Amino acid sequence: MPHAPFRDYYRERKEEKNNVIKIKMMKYRRAVIRHYTNNTFKCNCCGEDQYDFMTVDHINNDGKEHRINEPSAANIYSYLFRRGFPEGYQILCWNCNSSKNKNGECIHKIIENNK
Ligand SMILES: [Zn+2]
Ligand SMILES: [Zn+2]
Repeated sequence: MPHAPFRDYYRERKEEKNNVIKIKMMKYRRAVIRHYTNNTFKCNCCGEDQYDFMTVDHINNDGKEHRINEPSAANIYSYLFRRGFPEGYQILCWNCNSSKNKNGECIHKIIENNK
C-alpha cells in the first residue's frame, strides 16, 4: 500500500486539528460560564455546581429564533466569547434549563412565586 503513509499523515493532521478545536471550545465554555456566573460556576437558579451540567440559557427564551437568524450562534460558547459576553444570557444547570424551556420559567421559580 504505497499511499498508506500519506493517508496516515492526513489522518493525524485531521485528528490534531480536531483536538485543537476541542480544546478551544473547552476554553470558550469555561470562559463563558465563568463570566455569566460571576466566577462562581453555579446554576443561576438552583445553585447546582456540577460543571458538566452547566448550560447557557437565553433569558428571554428566544434561543431558537436566535439560532435561525444567526447560524454562528449554533455554538453558543464561541459566539458569546467572540462577542465579548453580550447581555441576555445566564448559566443554568441542565434541569433548570429544560424546566424553563418547558414552562417558560423553571419549576423552582414557579414554586417560589406560588408560595
Ligand atoms: Zn439549576
Ligand atoms: Zn431551577
